[in-house]
Amino acid sequence: MSHATLFLVTRPVSVEGVLDDAQRAAPDFLPADPAEPQLSVLDLGVSRGDGCFESISVVRGHAQALESHLERFAASARRLDLPEPDLDVWRAAVHAVIQAHVPVPELFVKMMLTRGIEGANAPTGWVYAETAPDFREARTTGIRVVTLDRGYRHDVNRTSPWLLQGAKTLSYAVNRAAIREAHRRGANDVIFVSSDGIVLEGPTSNLILLDGGRVRTPQTDLGILAGTTQASAFEFFESRGLRTEYATISADELERADAAWLVSSVRQAAPINAIDDRELLVDGPLTEGLNEYLLARQE
Ligand code: PLP
Repeated sequence: MSHATLFLVTRPVSVEGVLDDAQRAAPDFLPADPAEPQLSVLDLGVSRGDGCFESISVVRGHAQALESHLERFAASARRLDLPEPDLDVWRAAVHAVIQAHVPVPELFVKMMLTRGIEGANAPTGWVYAETAPDFREARTTGIRVVTLDRGYRHDVNRTSPWLLQGAKTLSYAVNRAAIREAHRRGANDVIFVSSDGIVLEGPTSNLILLDGGRVRTPQTDLGILAGTTQASAFEFFESRGLRTEYATISADELERADAAWLVSSVRQAAPINAIDDRELLVDGPLTEGLNEYLLARQE
């Protein structure tokens, strides 16, 4: 049974002009029962996956990288031509849902915004908090990954921005299908590669490689998400005196990585112990330091 804590965001997008008295008096978000139906079957978030979301880690009550998540949420909404989310309302709703949830060491919060019911011109928004799954094994023993062709070229965002690559849309069926394909191949997760052989990201994560003393991640103009966890991980590696860089990494360069991680909110850093058929050594102390750093973030 789910123990989610839910708030419906009643004013998810900025109101044009000055608020009238009724609008000012209305609460911006309201608690709701996650076990009861809350969403119309006509909501375009359901019927078309038309909307955007964010998943935020909350460790010991602290929402991590909240401002970066809020900015990315607004950027995804812009890519979808949705009205501008009111970030003050969303920030307050995230804090409220964390406060309302039973305190546990690790939670996640999802912020969800859809285009609403067709023709109603009123986006739907909600936030919910739930206890995070236990990722201790993934963070230590690590994960096996397979490379899968994403089927788009590395310059897809320039040639075909309507494909919304790099926006965090609600259309994650493809991402989940890729993870099921990894399971069929005996692996836990995926590294997507562009159709022209450039390393991209995971279906729910960014890739970081340690290669000859340099720490590298695919540059963010390849139709991938600019990761909040990856940005924090770079701060950690820099504090250890390692050089970090955003790069165009070809698939054959995966062969020579000394260590690699998939990083994302909630899971934090999962060391990769095999890419396709090649086993990779997990750098235990470096991975432990990285996860300690990520889990200690207070903002
Ligand atoms: N790339 C994709 C496609 C994702 O869905 C995610 C997170 O869910 C990430 C990267 C990692 O982003 P973050 O570290 O901000 O959670």
